[in-house]
Amino acid sequence: MERTLVILKPSAIQRELVGEVITRFERKGLRLCGIKMMQLDDAILSEHYAHLREKPFFQRVKNAMMTTPVIVTCWEGLNAAAVVRNMTGATNGQNAAPGTVRGDFCVSMQENIIHTSDSPENAVVELNRFFKPEELFEYKKCSFDYLYANDEC
Ligand code: ADP
Repeated sequence: MERTLVILKPSAIQRELVGEVITRFERKGLRLCGIKMMQLDDAILSEHYAHLREKPFFQRVKNAMMTTPVIVTCWEGLNAAAVVRNMTGATNGQNAAPGTVRGDFCVSMQENIIHTSDSPENAVVELNRFFKPEELFEYKKCSFDYLYANDEC
């Protein structure tokens, strides 16, 4: 089963959307493997947002991610990275489709509620960045037999 990372950003914390967002991924049928609150610092954000280091807004985005603690979560399911990414919506909340987290809850490019891994490969790297192995848990969901057909997994 594939795992992916979701970070509830300071905009989720301040807008009181933590429960709402987590509920969406639970209701979808993804398995919650890990969850914790963290205060991020410039070093981990420079690594996490390395692909933006040449952009003029790089430091601003990092600063915004340090204004409150964030909540990091790990979700598991078939094609979890793509499933979660589809539920996230476009980066800019103004363009994000209704029904997605960003489409329903924000109007900004920067203050866009959640970070989600953009591929299974990046999910592995990002989960290692934010979680220790012992912080991710194995257990069977009671609903598992009603989430997937036998031959799907
Ligand atoms: P995504 O989060 O959709 O994968 P990116 O990896 O391109 O998008 O960007 C990471 C984060 O940086 C975005 O979620 C957003 O918070 C911020 N960001 C990206 N582009 C801009 C921009 N032009 N202005 C302000 N913030 C931005």
